[in-house]
Amino acid sequence: MKKESGMKRTALEYKKIYESPDFDREYGYDGKLGFFYENEENVFQENAFRKGASRESVFRIWSPFAKQAQLRLFRDGSGGEPFAAFPMKRLEKGVWEYRAAEDLHGIYYDFILELDGERVQTTDPYAKACGINGKRSMAADLRRTDPEGWEGDLAPENGPEQVIWETHVKEFSWDPAGGFPEEVRGKYRAFCCKDTTLRGNSVHPTGLSYLKELGVTHVQLMPVYDYGSVDEAGDPAQFNWGYDPMNWNVPEGSYSSDPAHGEVRIRELKEAVQSLHRQGFRVIMDVVYNHTYSLETALQKTAPWYYYRVKEDGTVSNGSACGNDIASERPMCAKLILESVLYWAEEYHMDGFRFDLMGLLDVELMNRIRAALDERFGKGEKLVYGEPWEAGYTAMEKGFRQAVKNNVRHLDENIGIFSDRTRDAVRGSVFRLKEPGFVNGAQGTEGAILNSAKAWQGSRGARMLAPSQTITYISAHDNQTLWDKLAETTPDEEERRRQYRLAAGIYLTCQGRLFFLSGEEAARTKGGLEDSYNASIEINRLDWERAWRERELVDYYRGLIALRKQLPGLCDKSLQAAERIRAAWKRKGFAGFYVDNCRDGEDSPWKTLCILYNRRKKPVRVPLEGDGWEALADGRDSFLWKKPERVRKEAQVEAVSILVLGKREK
Ligand code: CA
Repeated sequence: MKKESGMKRTALEYKKIYESPDFDREYGYDGKLGFFYENEENVFQENAFRKGASRESVFRIWSPFAKQAQLRLFRDGSGGEPFAAFPMKRLEKGVWEYRAAEDLHGIYYDFILELDGERVQTTDPYAKACGINGKRSMAADLRRTDPEGWEGDLAPENGPEQVIWETHVKEFSWDPAGGFPEEVRGKYRAFCCKDTTLRGNSVHPTGLSYLKELGVTHVQLMPVYDYGSVDEAGDPAQFNWGYDPMNWNVPEGSYSSDPAHGEVRIRELKEAVQSLHRQGFRVIMDVVYNHTYSLETALQKTAPWYYYRVKEDGTVSNGSACGNDIASERPMCAKLILESVLYWAEEYHMDGFRFDLMGLLDVELMNRIRAALDERFGKGEKLVYGEPWEAGYTAMEKGFRQAVKNNVRHLDENIGIFSDRTRDAVRGSVFRLKEPGFVNGAQGTEGAILNSAKAWQGSRGARMLAPSQTITYISAHDNQTLWDKLAETTPDEEERRRQYRLAAGIYLTCQGRLFFLSGEEAARTKGGLEDSYNASIEINRLDWERAWRERELVDYYRGLIALRKQLPGLCDKSLQAAERIRAAWKRKGFAGFYVDNCRDGEDSPWKTLCILYNRRKKPVRVPLEGDGWEALADGRDSFLWKKPERVRKEAQVEAVSILVLGKREK
């Protein structure tokens, strides 16, 4: 660790230092970091602050190799000179601190470090508020950012099933046909709108009213932390998905009405969550802890190469395909990520987290996150799931395991993974566009379809996986939409629509938590584009006219979702759930199974289900066990369960369609 001052260490030299157990012993810090208040008893009355009562503003930063550190204070979030600068005091474990006797709420700040012989200007890796474009951090009294009634804000009760609808803040309300007021289009505040209708016609619900009708229970927001690819001072029509984090603990500014004032975005995101809760939805946040926008971050500036993986040859690990990989396995990095997740859950009342490229994070950290959420909020109360893969090789330190599919048996039973097996079995490979899945004619996929019914992930590990570990889906923001994918193999639109309904019917009758891309229910198209992350808002926006033009399809989804919630045999998330499914038929282009649907203590009129998938171009007749069967949904009508008709001895499944039958309790 000896190095002449003025000489810059290489990435590899740093890696060697951090790998040594001495480093953690000497510098591992488990105290608070960032900006916070101390000694703040009895100061909640506004007057008390003004008198400068016993409340100190504390700034603390971890930078083990800095020789000096200075805190600078600014009136604004960008531009201008600091109005004050203070040397920071070095505490133990590489931590620097400055304490002010006054309340510095609303003051912007940064740090100047002397590190590796250079003068480094940086923001705060733990910043909870920031100025425009995240270039300067802000001290915030978070209680002053709470909307009215926030203390009493509660998520709606969980129902029998979780139905997750993935959307993007801007795409949700950008389309003028959505009927949102002009000033909230593309903003957090659009989620505060109630009773929006198509072009304001007061007849056709859009927005959250539409979603409520559809039966969605969870709204998953694509990144809402501060990201770098959109200029918050620029054109409001700029679009990016936002998988390029800058400040993990600050909301993105471009969705707020005023990105220049750090407290506004915080309040507006909280208002959006509060409104979603009041309108009956839980809220899931998409979190990207696997990489950052660039290496020009506060992480890298305060502790060079600590938070990023470096390969043995000294080059930067790039398993994210985005230029860098976060070293989640390093203790101070794990601390930052864990505290960040807990912060969003506590401060913003987020109800769950979808981990982008979770396979780049380590199993141990994921399990710690799960355990910490369980401890604070109750077992399984907050959903945790992610993508169990990476985009390429990552240089994770030895002795750690990646949270990839093959390691799912090491993950907590309440950490879910996206089931690409089900997705590909139903619709075909996302990489080979012309390759069909079961619904559009793939050979030999019947077994995979039956496995999907049991949410089986193909792990041959020590224990059977529970559906609580499976996100069952066939479309997400990545890759072609379901409509565009089926168009690759099936130009005939009528035929494609039958396949589409069959695809929906299949995954909505598989075990696991249900997930779909916003607009899938209305045949969403991006004109065949596979990766629309930086395409125009016109391509990415939700088309509310289409949602009504495709009303029949939306209704088909609505019926299947409503039916699903009445089927305990499919909603079961326990380790034993798979035992309820008994495969009965597997023939070319046809698969079917029975479900032990209603056990003691469960509420459903149907004791047993028979679910049949036929992708052949002609009807298939199948004999049924016993009698008392009635049709609950078929390829045309997903509301048959409302007026069930008897089916005797033999069922007929029409060409390219699903048939769901229920056997009524005598
Ligand atoms: Ca931003």
